[in-house]
Amino acid sequence: MKFGGTSVADADKIRRCAERVLRRRRQGYGVIAVVSAPGEMTDDLLELAQGVGENPDAREMDVLLATGEQIGIALFSMALKRVGQEAISLTGPQAGIYADSSHTQARILKIQTGRIREELGRGRAVVVAGFQGLNPRQEVATLGRGGSDLTAVALAAAFRAKFCEIFTDVKGVYTADPRVVSQARLLRSVSQEEMLEMAASGAQVLQTRAVEVARKFRVPILVRATFQNHPGTWIYPDRTDRNQRVGRFFLRRRRAGKEETMEEAVISAVTWTQDLVKITAVDVPDRPGVAARLLKYLAEGNVPVDMILQSGTARGVNNISLTMARQDFEKTKGSVQAAARRVSAKRVLCEEGFGKVSVVGMGMRQHAWVAARMFEVLAKLKVNIEMIATSEIRLSCIIAEKKAQEAVRALHRVFCVPRR
Ligand code: ADP
Ligand code: ASP
Ligand code: MG
Repeated sequence: MKFGGTSVADADKIRRCAERVLRRRRQGYGVIAVVSAPGEMTDDLLELAQGVGENPDAREMDVLLATGEQIGIALFSMALKRVGQEAISLTGPQAGIYADSSHTQARILKIQTGRIREELGRGRAVVVAGFQGLNPRQEVATLGRGGSDLTAVALAAAFRAKFCEIFTDVKGVYTADPRVVSQARLLRSVSQEEMLEMAASGAQVLQTRAVEVARKFRVPILVRATFQNHPGTWIYPDRTDRNQRVGRFFLRRRRAGKEETMEEAVISAVTWTQDLVKITAVDVPDRPGVAARLLKYLAEGNVPVDMILQSGTARGVNNISLTMARQDFEKTKGSVQAAARRVSAKRVLCEEGFGKVSVVGMGMRQHAWVAARMFEVLAKLKVNIEMIATSEIRLSCIIAEKKAQEAVRALHRVFCVPRR
């Protein structure tokens, strides 16, 4: 059971979370509760560090950030004991979570289950600090923003748990961010593939890496509201449930006299991200191997590239554009510029203020109409499309950031609101 920041924001909320754990214990489950930093604590700690100076040391950053979750687990464990449930809080390292050495973005290497098993065996609820592990140098390392989701799913996988419950401030996974689109509908179930694309393209409700681990180890996830009684959204490891849902969808439509065929694309959600930068290496030689080298240099500098576009072949030169989160760019600016120079780019352009809107759903690749409709919606809003990327189940456009929210609402109206 994972409890997010808003769920443990104050003492009263922590008490109510503890009651949820108690209920599960009474149903006969052993419980591992993964707890986030209360409220906005992680953001506050980041701000504190920025106040001390720009680009803080990554190791010290981890020492700082890991404290938020430690406050969460101590209070949570106290609350459990108050209601008569034996409990123990464990930091990530104490819980046997081993991570690699990339501070602030560490990956989980393995989980040694001995200590938690021992505590569960004593009938205790084990309260684990999310978002952290021990690196090979015996230092605390954090797992990237939203990393408590990852801790929870990884523990569920290591203990072969029946399922991993993610408690948060919304009822489940919606067809769009309910904070932006008031018409967004709750999805009763989503396939892991779709959830992965949704998370990767901006649906903050689950961390992308957590969904990747759930997929690898076939962990079912249930996303639900902490303070409301609602069944929530299941994210299942296989497509069975999804196929049934799609089946029901067609059946309903056919009964309503609509024209869909069996294989028509079904859009599940619209997602968005903001604060992207576009970097263009201008006039790189148009020769085989240049893009490969550019990407190799970027990978060596740990530059997290999102979209890649090559364009404008003329006079034996190309432009290669990349997008990435502004925060990532600020950290890796030097590597990006060096990489562009090493492939003989004439200039490097860095433009801020981009966003990305995506539609996610099954059976999209074969359906040019999805792209046509998406572009049409954006055109109506007078939004210029800077870049386009497609996958089997996702279509994304880079656009001006200031238009992104409006675009999400319009796309949701067209793709996700059932036509009557
Ligand atoms: P927690 O602190 O519990 O981890 P987060 O803030 O990380 O919670 O994630 C929950 C938030 O994700 C919601 O408040 C919601 O605004 C946002 N969100 C974005 N896209 C979606 C979506 N498609 N479905 C549900 N929530 C979404
Ligand atoms: N507290 C961390 C964050 O805000 C981890 C998490 O909540 O998942 O990113
Ligand atoms: Mg989160």
